[in-house]
Amino acid sequence: MEIKHFSYRKTNYHLILGGDGKIVAFDAGWPGTYFEYAKAMKDTGFGIEQVDFAVVSHFHLDHAGLIGEMIKDGITCVVFDNQADKIDEMEGIILKKQKDYVRIDKSKLLRMKCDESRQWLSSLGIQGEVVQTPGHSTDSVSFVSDDGDALIGDLYREEIALDPESRLSLRLLRNKKVKNIYPAHGENYLVQYE
Ligand SMILES: [Zn+2]
Repeated sequence: MEIKHFSYRKTNYHLILGGDGKIVAFDAGWPGTYFEYAKAMKDTGFGIEQVDFAVVSHFHLDHAGLIGEMIKDGITCVVFDNQADKIDEMEGIILKKQKDYVRIDKSKLLRMKCDESRQWLSSLGIQGEVVQTPGHSTDSVSFVSDDGDALIGDLYREEIALDPESRLSLRLLRNKKVKNIYPAHGENYLVQYE
């Protein structure tokens, strides 16, 4: 299993490559930037037409702004149980500024519990799981691969994570022996163990 990374507008996005050419996009762009997101993705050697699924770290506009358009484009978008009630809040904020925003057709979302993610990912040839990592927001999740990579969205770094929720989330990642952390903003870094 391999993860490819790409960035635009100071935000990092990822493609998790499964077996049989299955691709899961982790985080889904700023609203109204479908072309820009697709163009940035080309740095990975893959095109948006090859993406089968999308998972978002949380429903904030820089992470889930293109889910509506992705669904229209035939990509299956996953929503985890702690995320479902955050969609309206995000769309309310976007719609204030962006009248042409493509809303998320909720009837087409693939609803899943984080506990079910390992089995689902394994069916795509991906060894890992999605875990709840609240702190930055209650709907935050991270993807953790069995070989120690973590895609964490906006979970804070240990040095600045002062709230108990973030600290618990970071401890969970440590318990899972995560080695390499990829935040949505800024450089990836190695986890230091004693
Ligand atoms: Zn963000």
